[in-house]
Amino acid sequence: MTRASYTAAVVGGGAAGVATALGLAKAGADVLLAAPPHRPLGHAADTRTAALFAGSIDFLKNVGTWTAVEPHSAPIGAIRIIDDTGALLRAPEVVFTADEVGLDAFGWNVPNHALVSALLAAAAAPDSRITVLETAGIDRVEPGAKAVRLLSREGETFEARLVAGADGRNSMCRAAAGIATRSWRYEQAAVVATFRHTRSHRGISTEFHRPAGPFTTVPLPGLRSSLVWVERPGEAQRLAALDDTAFREALERRLQGLLGSIGEVTPRAMFPLSGLTANTFGQNRIALLGEAGHVIPPIGAQGLNLGLRDAATLAECVASALAAGRDPGGAETLEAYSAGRRGDVGSRIATVDVLNRSLISGVLPIHLVRGLGLVALKAVAPLRRLAIREGLQPSGTLPALLMPDGARLLAERARPAAPRDSAA
Ligand SMILES: Cc1cc2nc3c(=O)[nH]c(=O)nc-3n(C[C@H](O)[C@H](O)[C@H](O)COP(=O)(O)OP(=O)(O)OC[C@H]3O[C@@H](n4cnc5c(N)ncnc54)[C@H](O)[C@@H]3O)c2cc1C
Repeated sequence: MTRASYTAAVVGGGAAGVATALGLAKAGADVLLAAPPHRPLGHAADTRTAALFAGSIDFLKNVGTWTAVEPHSAPIGAIRIIDDTGALLRAPEVVFTADEVGLDAFGWNVPNHALVSALLAAAAAPDSRITVLETAGIDRVEPGAKAVRLLSREGETFEARLVAGADGRNSMCRAAAGIATRSWRYEQAAVVATFRHTRSHRGISTEFHRPAGPFTTVPLPGLRSSLVWVERPGEAQRLAALDDTAFREALERRLQGLLGSIGEVTPRAMFPLSGLTANTFGQNRIALLGEAGHVIPPIGAQGLNLGLRDAATLAECVASALAAGRDPGGAETLEAYSAGRRGDVGSRIATVDVLNRSLISGVLPIHLVRGLGLVALKAVAPLRRLAIREGLQPSGTLPALLMPDGARLLAERARPAAPRDSAA
């Protein structure tokens, strides 16, 4: 049995967890990353991609992973919304372009598997300050007065002053911290795949607003796109079970020729739509990140962007604690972290919920309000620019790792303040 002690331990090997380990190391902490083995590509669930906005891309640059991720990813230059609800009052087609807000792209569509591979490679680099523990799982998480004790399924014990729980929606860390949640389900599921097509996507992500939920294509490099097709659970199950030929035909019909003929499709994965939010994001030396803290339906590309903002915020709080000689897992650090995340997470969950419910509602006034909202966004350029900026990231001061050259900024913040010159 080994017993080793760290400033921080991260539990979870998804994108949020590995990103958090890299962020904490940049903040000056020595970090244990306890992660299950990264499976080789080929599982249907790995066909997920994430549209990541500018702050998230800066995060990846700051932790030295963007050059490995970029070749697998495609820029999103425009977002087109098409009303396909069949409602009496059809909203106009709205196109948001990145150049309206002075950007080359809103963000990049990044395959999940390539992203986690690149993050893990950076974590395993000899100069990373991260010890990667490949484990079947952490079995016990026991918060104490001065540290949290972790026990792995292999029987090893570790201690850390701060635990970053990024162990997904059924988080054991969250339970160990005694943090309650609010959770809910939607009568919808997303069918996810990537596919080839003959007509260029021209860097445009297209969202059809349909009565069962949105149907979204997002560009990938070349003549490929990813698909998030939201349906009622029964219909989603039927679609996911179709063979390749039948699924291609269904997809081609739904796209109405927008991307030409549909070629090879990857295996389909299905994700029931649900939501969850933790009552606090930190307590008892345990901080919650990614889906351990919040689950949001895959509408409007918010989930992992939030997860990376969690990682950047925790890194910032730990850097300040270390610089001031405070406890990185103490109540003050965790309260600052939780307060830093509450508004952003709450507002994204509320916005996505309203948008989704306005689509699936059969109530005419709700369709009218949604339609008028789109009319206003189409007609009023400043309103459109405001909506774009708010969708991309929250206003206000950003943590260093979400900004260009953030690693240097964070290292400066993590340095203890020089003693004052007594003559000054
Ligand atoms: C269809 C779909 C489309 C999406 N599109 C977007 C998008 O466009 N943009 C966007 O920003 N987000 C998007 N998301 C959201 C994004 O995929 C998630 O936010 C993100 O993958 C969550 O990462 P995570 O690391 O928090 O959780 P997970 O990926 O679930 O990782 C949790 C990790 O914890 C590990 N674990 C669990 N228990 C233990 C234990 N006891 N010990 C050790 N390890 C443990 C698991 O094995 C896993 O490695 C989408 C999601 C879906 C479903």
